[in-house]
Amino acid sequence: MISEKMSVMVKNSSITRAMFEEGKRLAAIYGKENVYDFSLGNPSVQPPVSVKEALIDIISNEDTTFVHGYMNNSGYEDVREKIATKLNQVHGTSFHTNNIIMTVGAAGGLNVILKTLINPGDEVVTFAPFFGEYKNYADNYDAKLVVISPDKETFLPNLKELEEKLTKATKAIIVNTPNNPTGVVYSEETIIELSKVLEKKQQEFGTNIYLISDEPYRELVYGDVFVPYITKYYRNTIVGYSYSKSLSLPGERIGYLVIPTEVDDYEEIFAAASVATRILGYVNAPSLIQRVVARCLDSEVDVSVYNENRELLYGSLKEYGYSCAKPEGAFYLFVKTLEEDDKAFCEKAKKHNILIVPGSAFGCPGYCRIAYCVSKKTIEGALPHFKKLYEEYKE
Ligand code: PLP
Repeated sequence: MISEKMSVMVKNSSITRAMFEEGKRLAAIYGKENVYDFSLGNPSVQPPVSVKEALIDIISNEDTTFVHGYMNNSGYEDVREKIATKLNQVHGTSFHTNNIIMTVGAAGGLNVILKTLINPGDEVVTFAPFFGEYKNYADNYDAKLVVISPDKETFLPNLKELEEKLTKATKAIIVNTPNNPTGVVYSEETIIELSKVLEKKQQEFGTNIYLISDEPYRELVYGDVFVPYITKYYRNTIVGYSYSKSLSLPGERIGYLVIPTEVDDYEEIFAAASVATRILGYVNAPSLIQRVVARCLDSEVDVSVYNENRELLYGSLKEYGYSCAKPEGAFYLFVKTLEEDDKAFCEKAKKHNILIVPGSAFGCPGYCRIAYCVSKKTIEGALPHFKKLYEEYKE
């Protein structure tokens, strides 16, 4: 007999689960190569060779009891120091070892910081469309997720509505730029405006509103796009980072939180986040891969592969008549569905062996998400089917 809370969560997970099952079913009938699965954000580009080299060298040459052992719940000190130094070089910040907590990916980091901050009934605000797991993570700590409705013209944050929906109970706001599912990147101007709203409301309520910047796609941007480092604009910012996408290591579960010294109640929060890491059952982020990423801080995946996919898919879909904004980052295209019911549209796409996720899963019905972290062959194979699907609607 599972808990009532889990019953609800299991029910809500059914879209992704159904998609996974459907992919397997279609592959069994039509062959794997004839199923076009755009449903998952699983990187298709190989990790840099430096990852393999570091793994081999660490296993061969570092002390194995150290490499495989427990360490401080926050992570190895030398790893955290290297990450802080790298961030300072890139962003001109002044972080040190005790601003960094190694986490079990971005998901682990978000859970750690919410566990640290949230009392039951507190409000956590986010902007639609948003990564659907935020709802589950908020539920984990009995927070209420308050969703700001999408600006369907720009998919930038609707700051007017934000101002109206912030209350004395708002403990945190989660932003995600570059964004899953839209690929939108918030400009410096947007972040300044957002910070002004938060500052104003903190003063008005006499509370702290922590901005949690969920940044697994920070490095995945196309062209000359600038992704501002939000701690420089808003004092109460906590960053959640992950190597899942930037080094193509999602299964390794590695990332970190940045809790800057300037944050209100920094010492208490940092200490509590270390304890949260332990008591959530993570104990610490996986040891070996902590040591690996510390050696790969200057490495990156070949983003040009995603860029080619983006150009091909975006260009072709626009040519067929679909409507979507060109993403500046991440590896998703957020496309207007050809009927209002996005779930029905995704069902029709399935008839063409195309697997995509309805926008409702991101709090934004009327759209669908196409993850283009797939092989070029998958995109080329799917394009005629996308064209036929469009024509079916126009008949
Ligand atoms: N946040 C966003 C916006 C994501 O898209 C994802 C994964 O796709 C995560 C967090 C979780 O990432 P991780 O694998 O690092 O836990």
